[in-house]
Amino acid sequence: MNGRFGWKGGTPANVLITGARVVDPRENLDQQMDVLVADGIITQIAAAGSITAGDSTITVQDAGSILMPAFTDPHIHLRTPGQEHKETIASGTMAAAAGGYCLVIAMPNTTPVIDGPDLLRGILARANETAVIPMAQTGAITRDLAGTELTEMATMMDTGAAGFTDDGIAVRDAGVLRRALRYQAVAGGVIALHEEDTALSMGAPINEGVVSARLGLRGQPGSAESTMIARDCALARMENAAIHIQHVSTYESVEVIRREKAQGTRVTAEASPHHLLLTEEACSTLDSRAKMNPPLRTEVDRNAVIAGLVDGTLDCVATDHAPHSDDEKSQPFEDAPFGTTGLETSFAVLYDELVTPGLIELGVLVERMTSGCVPFGFEPPTVAVGEPANLALFDTRAEWTAGETGWVSMSSNSCFTGRAMSGRISLTLAGGVIVHTAEANR
Ligand SMILES: [Zn+2]
Ligand SMILES: [Zn+2]
Repeated sequence: MNGRFGWKGGTPANVLITGARVVDPRENLDQQMDVLVADGIITQIAAAGSITAGDSTITVQDAGSILMPAFTDPHIHLRTPGQEHKETIASGTMAAAAGGYCLVIAMPNTTPVIDGPDLLRGILARANETAVIPMAQTGAITRDLAGTELTEMATMMDTGAAGFTDDGIAVRDAGVLRRALRYQAVAGGVIALHEEDTALSMGAPINEGVVSARLGLRGQPGSAESTMIARDCALARMENAAIHIQHVSTYESVEVIRREKAQGTRVTAEASPHHLLLTEEACSTLDSRAKMNPPLRTEVDRNAVIAGLVDGTLDCVATDHAPHSDDEKSQPFEDAPFGTTGLETSFAVLYDELVTPGLIELGVLVERMTSGCVPFGFEPPTVAVGEPANLALFDTRAEWTAGETGWVSMSSNSCFTGRAMSGRISLTLAGGVIVHTAEANR
């Protein structure tokens, strides 16, 4: 994966974490262990209390914590270039470190759009100067996201693109998407799709349902998403191409993907914490932090997204971290931009509301939090001897209220603001470097 991400790096860590519950489903690990990191590499994993470290090693004694492979997020929005008042590579990757991430994949809908090798090279160079954790960058499928002319996908892959997406909008023209899928056979790179038939959604600010009716707002029907997913799976099957469905939000969408996977279609998919935990009712008070695209749906949809994540129909968790300034988000609900931030709260909120009540097993959630990089051709991190230390330590005793003392992200538009949570990331290592500590939590 060399050359396919940018990162400023740092000093390789020497750290011993003793007595934590080590959970890594890929390594069949779920027990109290000691884990020793020397020069940034995991060098020993042994029974709790059995490893002693030298003077130069930081020791973290933590029987009340869970130690996991650090997370990877296949879908975030940094605002470089063009909208650095909302987020920069530095602030966004620092927010990711605070959330326990060791790799994030950024979307290309910046200003200008990252639709050519020179812009891509510039972003990766910037990441090499300022990214706190490794950051990969997708390129656009079509020039300027206009949906008509394909980008130089092969050249962008050579330059280090993580894959391709027009996220923010769907590829409306099926013929254009078919050409992109054919081009994939030569260029490589998964094609990630924001699925929305705008002839049905009409850009409406909220789900079409009881809440939109009550508020007198236009709504997006769930079929705006599921019909496009069905179309695009059919195209992928026809061309034997790999597609990744972004932010799946409806019951029907999960059903379509489950069916397509059973038929052997090369499709992967992601679910976002807000679609897993919130419904359209969160829009009742016209709080624009609950305005995102696809919109929050119904309880039936939410339960289907959870079931899809549990059974693997949905492969991974993606935050769709979308920072916006207070000025933009304080506009009237209909005018405010779509999107919520999410990197700093994702694991904590999912642990609290899905793992603790028994809706998903911890090991399954860890798998889904770490595997988002896989469709984009990156190896998922593991807790294994000889591997670089990509580790997230989660203090189950930490009680905190999201956003109460501010955010690491430059933006504060989190739909989970004000939520009380039990458990917080207290240490993150990415690529063998300590990138976040409990002291930085505020
Ligand atoms: Zn999207
Ligand atoms: Zn997005």
